Amino acid sequence: MEKKEQLYEGKAKKVFATDDPTLVIVDYKDDATAFNGEKRGTIAGKGVINNVMSDHMFQLLEQQGVPTHFVRQLSDRETLVKKVAIVPLEVIVRNISAGSFSKRYGVREGIVFDAPTFELSYKNDDLGDPLLNDDHAVALGLATRAELAQIRDMALRVDAVMQRYFDTLGVTLVDFKLEFGKTADGTIVLADEISPDTCRLWDKATGEKLDKDRFRRDLGGVEQAYQEIMKRIMGQGETTDREK
Ligand code: ADP
Ligand code: UDP
Repeated sequence: MEKKEQLYEGKAKKVFATDDPTLVIVDYKDDATAFNGEKRGTIAGKGVINNVMSDHMFQLLEQQGVPTHFVRQLSDRETLVKKVAIVPLEVIVRNISAGSFSKRYGVREGIVFDAPTFELSYKNDDLGDPLLNDDHAVALGLATRAELAQIRDMALRVDAVMQRYFDTLGVTLVDFKLEFGKTADGTIVLADEISPDTCRLWDKATGEKLDKDRFRRDLGGVEQAYQEIMKRIMGQGETTDREK
């Protein structure tokens, strides 16, 4: 597969054309941003971890009946994916209160919900990704009702699969962001990435944060947290206190 011109450079990934117009290559960077680009830095090795973890999650989800953009991994930072028209929505599922939910509604982090919550933001950096509801998304022409219903079903299925999976790794899945896209024939598939950049992951035993909040909140041990998640996914078990 030939890597051709760069189509896009985002905050965390670059997207390249290939000799097949239906396929693109995503190339994961170590660059990290938070608070809509206000805070910038690098997390050494993050690109490799996010690439490998995303591909692992996409394959697991495909096995569980969720269609994704994944085609095949090309190198430690590059993956071949189906080119999609991204639906400009950030689809967020929460199992436990944290982050902007806690801030917006004035509640502590760590409230375990009886059922997952589903929310949408308009993916628009200039506007700061504002929260919106289905009516707003339809009014803005971002998606149809049928597409929104399908996206909700898929997102909740992803949550069920991922919660079960992370539980086996001794990790609590707090919340996460998904992006969906439409292939040339109009099929909706899960796209973008699933990584510690886009999920909140807490150690089940200690509650320790093993995700991008370590970077956002200057908690230290950022690289180690990403490595710990990678290690558990790769089946090498948990790092014991003695090893730390
Ligand atoms: P951002 O644009 O938010 O800075 P990234 O740095 O992750 O984000 O850039 C990757 C871009 O590629 C995002 O805009 C994402 O929506 C887009 N993207 C993800 N998967 C696909 C795909 N399969 N086809 C086309 N674009 C994609
Ligand atoms: N998230 C993301 N990209 C965004 C906003 C949120 O990947 O632009 C993820 C974030 O990592 C968390 C979940 O979505 O796992 C919910 O994030 P929240 O709305 O609490 O926003 P935050 O306060 O993290 O910006």
